[in-house]
Amino acid sequence: MDNNQLKLDLLSRIKTDHPTMCRRWFDDIRVVGIVDGSVRVRIDEPVQLKYLQKCCTQQFSEAAQSVTGRLLSVIFVGENSGAVAGDPAVISGDGVERFSEIEEDMLISPDYNFDGFVIGPGNRLAHAAATAVSNKPGRAYNPLFIHGGVGLGKTHLLQSICQTAMSIHQSMRIYYVSCNGFMTQFLEAVQAGEMSLFRNRFRSFDMLVIDDIHDLSKRDQTQEEFFHTFNTLFQSGKQVVLSSDAAPNEIPFLEERLVSRFSCGLVACVESPGFETRVAIIKKKASIRHIEIPDDVASYIATKLDSNIRQLEGAITKLQSISLLDNSVIDLQMARGAIGNELLGDRPKHVSIQDVFDSVTVFYDAKLSDLLSKKRHKSITVPRQVGMWLARKYTRFSLEEIGGYFGGRDHTTVMHAVKTVEQKMVADELFSRDIDLLTGQLSDKTDG
Ligand code: ADP
Ligand code: MG
Repeated sequence: MDNNQLKLDLLSRIKTDHPTMCRRWFDDIRVVGIVDGSVRVRIDEPVQLKYLQKCCTQQFSEAAQSVTGRLLSVIFVGENSGAVAGDPAVISGDGVERFSEIEEDMLISPDYNFDGFVIGPGNRLAHAAATAVSNKPGRAYNPLFIHGGVGLGKTHLLQSICQTAMSIHQSMRIYYVSCNGFMTQFLEAVQAGEMSLFRNRFRSFDMLVIDDIHDLSKRDQTQEEFFHTFNTLFQSGKQVVLSSDAAPNEIPFLEERLVSRFSCGLVACVESPGFETRVAIIKKKASIRHIEIPDDVASYIATKLDSNIRQLEGAITKLQSISLLDNSVIDLQMARGAIGNELLGDRPKHVSIQDVFDSVTVFYDAKLSDLLSKKRHKSITVPRQVGMWLARKYTRFSLEEIGGYFGGRDHTTVMHAVKTVEQKMVADELFSRDIDLLTGQLSDKTDG
């Protein structure tokens, strides 16, 4: 079979088996040959390459096996190795190719770039500042602090900054991490007695982008460490970008000296999108996924779902799945049936631990007593870990407190749960959709 035919067959298989994983840019991949039982698939864009390697290898390997009838695996390769197919030097022991442009443990979504971001009145300033910072890191606004409610595009903007900056300033060391990721690495370094490694690493970036920095307020020790990291970077003109669910002076328990550091550059807010922006976002998302959503359906969704943009995406996924199952086109009638009842009534303001317990037990059909017990069967460890992750995300409880609520567990157990869930969300599409549903439910409570 020739390489191009194999590519087309692979993509059509993936489209059938994993429709919601497909993106328009998948068309840019090229099959460069089969070497030692591996199909080498080339993609030049580093963020896309890394995403395919980390999140799609299994699905592509299965597709390769099913279209060729051979026991093949798929290896994604980048610009510098595609032409020399078969050169063993470019493949490391685990079959994953390395490249220097992206930090090893950094994964960002190829969807989150400026092209995929719709500008509206509620995010115009934040967007303009984000573009300026990615063009001139350290010289436009420093730090850039973006704040706003859940699902309003903060993570999308932060990752867009990284993607654009990486393509313009190829020699820069750029690192994106969630605040929880930063804290976990810090605590691990403390436990392993490797603080100097940690410090050298974090203080050597040219651009450090930390998402959900409000989580920092839960721990004094990490506030202290972050303060010094921040100062070192800032004083040597390195760019810092932060996001948060509240303005610096409204983050509870945040030390005054951090509040003032966070406020000394540009503080930009993202607000809920209006109707027209919502319609534009729906169309943009549909186009990225290569699916047709008629205008009346886009308007219908935008009327029905008006708080959290993640819900709009959920609606698109739902319609896409129904249309594939029924083999029908997406139309207004289908949309009415699928999302007509999703508007919720009164919304309490805060998420409590009880809310987390309720969502998790209902969703996984699990007993609360099991969740809090010592049982270690998978059917109960997964809901338990998800519960801990949700508690971490939606309540202001510390790791210790969350451990306490979940049957008197240690804070390291909670830390481990949070990390496990975050990794699984990236690697496992079905799991990540479950999490979207759960976070959708809980976000409704906070959107007020
Ligand atoms: P936050 O980090 O603020 O909670 P995210 O950045 O994760 O929100 O956004 C949630 C979803 O909404 C993402 O899929 C993101 O792409 C999408 N989104 C938010 N704002 C926009 C926008 N202005 N244009 C396009 N997509 C958006
Ligand atoms: Mg976010």
